[in-house]
Amino acid sequence: MGSYELDDDDAGHWVEDDYYDDDWAVRVNRFADPGGESALYAADDSNPRNLPCPTCHWPNRITPADKARGYQCDACANANERGYDIDYYEGDDDSDD
Ligand SMILES: [Zn+2]
Repeated sequence: MGSYELDDDDAGHWVEDDYYDDDWAVRVNRFADPGGESALYAADDSNPRNLPCPTCHWPNRITPADKARGYQCDACANANERGYDIDYYEGDDDSDD
């Protein structure tokens, strides 16, 4: 007669789940980006954030150091990375009528 062997695979899955848990925690940490200022330079007296973004043209989005590196603003960088539409600046007329 055949005898059933207890399958130890379940124990194996347990270990795997633990592993994925850890991996997930690491990934979440990595994408959280608590600083939020991305690649742009911090603004200060010698490097004021007074220039428009070269992509969306919103004023006061980047600093001279950013411009020298060819950076765009955070919104545009995010849009590029995630495939969002860029929110272009349409001039000073606030069209909220
Ligand atoms: Zn921009």
